[in-house]
Amino acid sequence: MNGCKNHFPFRLQPLPYPLDGLEPYLDRLTVTIHHDRHQRGYQEALNRLLAKSPEKQCLSLEQLICQADQTPEGQELAFQAGGLWCHEFYFDCMTRTGASLTQPSGCLAQRIERDFGGFQRFQKDFTDAAIKLKGSGWVWLVSGPTGALSILQTPLQQTPLVHGLYPILVVDVWEHAYYLKYQNRRDLYLQNWWLLADWEFALQNYQLCVNGTAPR
Ligand code: MN
Repeated sequence: MNGCKNHFPFRLQPLPYPLDGLEPYLDRLTVTIHHDRHQRGYQEALNRLLAKSPEKQCLSLEQLICQADQTPEGQELAFQAGGLWCHEFYFDCMTRTGASLTQPSGCLAQRIERDFGGFQRFQKDFTDAAIKLKGSGWVWLVSGPTGALSILQTPLQQTPLVHGLYPILVVDVWEHAYYLKYQNRRDLYLQNWWLLADWEFALQNYQLCVNGTAPR
């Protein structure tokens, strides 16, 4: 494409920690299959679709997600691009046990206090949203353009970007994210997921957002 940065082919972003880095809360086998098979599946499917659409090869992942049309082909492209984007963000939202703050800090902590009435209240609301989500999807802490925080459920591989919202933190509640270890106990997965949440990453995302910079 003339003068246009080529994003294609998309690569599989490596995990920011070893495959067993989230033990004991997420086991090596779960993380391996989730990253090396599920996330890779979205990456490879997206590249296969783009190989047939050279005119879209210069679009970034965010552009592919936000500019998708309503045709079946457009929706398939948005699904695969969203799947890749959501998984990159999800794995970045977790960190090795004990490697991060266990609670939000700075301006993010203050805004959680203001918008949710405290961290514990936020954790409860977020967990409830994740437990109640029907089918496969994601639960996000998001910020609006003015910095106001809210909790958002999205179905399948839909991102907050299509709603004009900035992602701060996400948990994957597709069964493949937890079923090998927790089976039907999504509540136990979520209880332990809080011990992996990377609040330093979340704060960075929030600072980018309130400073008016595009997320990620
Ligand atoms: Mn997943």
